[in-house]
Amino acid sequence: MYDVVIIGAGPAGLTAGIYAGRAGLDALIIDSKQVGGTVNNAPLIENYPAFEAIEGMKLIEMMASQTKKYAEIKEFTPVSEVSKTKDNFIIKTSDDDIEAKNVIFATGTNVRSLDAPGIEEYAGRGVSYCAVCDGNFFVDKEVLVVGGGNSAAVEALYLNRIGVKCSLVHRRDKLRCDAKLQKDLEDNNIKIYWNSEVKSVNGDIFVESATLINNKTNEEITVDINGIFLSIGHDPNSQLAQSSGVECNEYGYIIVDENMATSVEGAYAAGDVTGGIKQITVATAQGAIASSDIQSKLM
Ligand code: NAP
Repeated sequence: MYDVVIIGAGPAGLTAGIYAGRAGLDALIIDSKQVGGTVNNAPLIENYPAFEAIEGMKLIEMMASQTKKYAEIKEFTPVSEVSKTKDNFIIKTSDDDIEAKNVIFATGTNVRSLDAPGIEEYAGRGVSYCAVCDGNFFVDKEVLVVGGGNSAAVEALYLNRIGVKCSLVHRRDKLRCDAKLQKDLEDNNIKIYWNSEVKSVNGDIFVESATLINNKTNEEITVDINGIFLSIGHDPNSQLAQSSGVECNEYGYIIVDENMATSVEGAYAAGDVTGGIKQITVATAQGAIASSDIQSKLM
């Protein structure tokens, strides 16, 4: 029996593992994929203290190697159910059933997609959700990045840096991303299609163009492109927590108190799945708080 099973091996889950292990708790971290969560897709992180700039994958590699000193990590192991017996939790995985005194949901978010013709059809053939993964296929080619938040700006800047000709498509006339990133976009002459939405993605075997509609004027234009990167945010990955009785808010984010405890005793949540400011610094802090509270209750 583990003192704590942490579901999700992003920054929140990994930090929860470090704090749990160092507090003398027997901790297991499980993830349905490889360690890292959405940070693996971050081309460059410039606001994680002590690193002026670091690639997401590199930061995760360092975090995971530190975590392994204190907690067991099981990758590629989907959890299908978490249920509570009188005192403990049973975590049903693709391998076996695991028992734990506490559970931390650090399940993060899922990437959002667009409901437009061509998006599904051309997935992997020009439609992408990850500049780090697919950017190199588009060097010297034309792409669009859709979105106006930090992710879209960072992805556009990354693509531009590696030699991809890229423009941004945003549905409003103001970007949501940090002022520093807005200035970087301007300094790099990245064109922005304002008040624009993707009406369709068109092509033959691969993407060849996208039709954009201006939501103020209804004017449509078709832009010749080789690829389109969707960077329009994420939705909480909280179905597992919800089906185990944990309360979520109207948007599906897990409700937690100041100790990251949820509505089910012994169940905690940390990181992006709790909503709020979705930053690595916040996720790591929340992981630390959750494990520290578990440790204080088990003492
Ligand atoms: P986000 O901040 O929620 O931004 C999503 C963007 O996509 C918004 O501009 C939104 O438009 C647009 N959008 C949403 N649905 C759309 C749709 N159906 N069609 C067209 N556009 C749509 O998401 P994010 O950029 O992925 O960032 C998530 C969190 O991670 C944020 O808290 C962000 O600060 C953080 N983050 C930080 C960094 C960093 O370097 N510090 C990097 C990446 C992410 P509206 O503006 O009109 O709503």
